[in-house]
Amino acid sequence: MSPRAWAVTALVVLFAALAAFAAAKIPWHRAPAPRADQLDALGRLDAEQVERARDFHGELRPGRYASMAIGLSVAVVLGLTPIGARLVSAVGDHWLVQAVFGGLLVVLVTELVTLPIAIWRHTVVVRYGISTQSWSGWAVDMLKSYAVGAVLGALVLAGFFTITHFAPQWWWAFGAVGVAGLVVLLSFVLPVLVEPIFNKFTPMAEGPLRTDLLALAERDGVPVRDVLVADASRRTKAVNAYVSGLGPTRRIVVYDTMLTEATPDEVISVTAHELGHAKDGDVLTGTVIGALGAAASVIVLYLVGSWGGLLRLAGVESIGEPRAIGLLLVLTTIAGLVAGPAQAFVSRRVEARADTHALDLTGDPETFEAMQRRLGTVNLSDPDPPHWEHAMFASHPSTVQRMAAARAYARGAR
Ligand SMILES: [Zn+2]
Repeated sequence: MSPRAWAVTALVVLFAALAAFAAAKIPWHRAPAPRADQLDALGRLDAEQVERARDFHGELRPGRYASMAIGLSVAVVLGLTPIGARLVSAVGDHWLVQAVFGGLLVVLVTELVTLPIAIWRHTVVVRYGISTQSWSGWAVDMLKSYAVGAVLGALVLAGFFTITHFAPQWWWAFGAVGVAGLVVLLSFVLPVLVEPIFNKFTPMAEGPLRTDLLALAERDGVPVRDVLVADASRRTKAVNAYVSGLGPTRRIVVYDTMLTEATPDEVISVTAHELGHAKDGDVLTGTVIGALGAAASVIVLYLVGSWGGLLRLAGVESIGEPRAIGLLLVLTTIAGLVAGPAQAFVSRRVEARADTHALDLTGDPETFEAMQRRLGTVNLSDPDPPHWEHAMFASHPSTVQRMAAARAYARGAR
């Protein structure tokens, strides 16, 4: 069999594994609560608040779509014309130099082109009082994320093009294994190495709340290494909590804003939701799906990248050469746009399951509903966003869907 035939076979196997794993692990049948309950929930929210949230999102919307359109346009220009290849050639002749610095240059160009929109977005979130960050704080955060992206990007680019350089026929196989391994590694490493670059994490202070939270985890049968508080208040007014890491790096993180904005019962409600993620192994599920998906994408890149028409447009001989970085960018950008809604759909189902877990664990739908209301108010989220926008982008059920779920739960429990 030729390398190409092997690649097609491997892709079919990967897709089958992905489909089987997703079918088994994702709670597909968790449709949102009835629309009548959602509208009822919407009616119980403060009308002025709802209006303000809608204005906020209305102001953010043009920038969001402009950013997507510009990102795609730049990728098309760099990847489907010889401009990207010329840009990469400009940094030097050696393949490794081209791979690392050419790649970083291409990414820098796309970042710079969308920078004005990022700046404009910051002015909006400051004006609405969501961000508490000064321009200098904001710029430092941007530079930090560029630095993290540059280090990670340089490693990935150097690794990828080393493989394509030394295994021009079989790079897709090594690349698929490598990228899957990287996804797993990052799941363990990011919470420990990268999150502290942006926030300080301190163990939650001893006291009734910490005791209650640890007791809750124990009652739930979920081993929790620690409950940490992140100093999010230096950047935002938004409240949040999340669980990150796998096995020995798993921890529950609560924003410090939540401790000042929410009641202890509400913090317990949110933590119960996070414990649901831990108990159902959602981080592990996400990691496995991410790893399989990334491996499959490398093979798709190899197969699509052998199409002569594309290579001619990009002015390169092979997708495995560093000068094809622009072509890789446009293909991954399009793949990202296509995969986004599917990821969002899966995420909403998983989040709905964690909500049900929180309701079961606390048996307290009133506090759950109050917390959803608070989350929506403080974070200025649109409680009932336009249907298609929700379908395309939302990682969580909407505020009214979550409030309605609590109502439905209370009805069922009675
Ligand atoms: Zn969640």
